[in-house]
Amino acid sequence: MSCIFCRIASGEIPSHRVLETENVVAFHDLSPQAPIHVLVIPRAHIESVGAAQPEHAAVLGELLLACRQVAEQLRVLESGFRVVLNTGPNGGQTVPHLHAHVLAGRHLTWPPG
Ligand code: 5GP
Ligand code: ZN
Repeated sequence: MSCIFCRIASGEIPSHRVLETENVVAFHDLSPQAPIHVLVIPRAHIESVGAAQPEHAAVLGELLLACRQVAEQLRVLESGFRVVLNTGPNGGQTVPHLHAHVLAGRHLTWPPG
């Protein structure tokens, strides 16, 4: 198993976990870009949003609800947060295992670079 996020999901590579369910895992990003920067991933290896299929609908829904739960647990539901899914080379995706970034704790500018 060479995928780094599959290895994080299985626990083979340690991470600072925020929550985990049967289907998704959330953990702090190694290189935070905001005071709160958490990654939420499906345990199943789906390469990207671009590779997602209709049979992934349930886990993709769970992933977004897990982002909400991370925001609630870290107390930024009211102040706000950003959910980002970088996809493919021009999207800036560097790890080919689908992941949502939950960014919060400062005012985030728009548009992104
Ligand atoms: P991407 O650029 O693909 O959207 O996001 C990948 C993210 O994974 C980056 O923000 C990077 O800091 C994070 N990352 C890469 N390797 C590791 C790791 O081993 N542990 C953790 N916690 N985060 C990682
Ligand atoms: Zn993977």
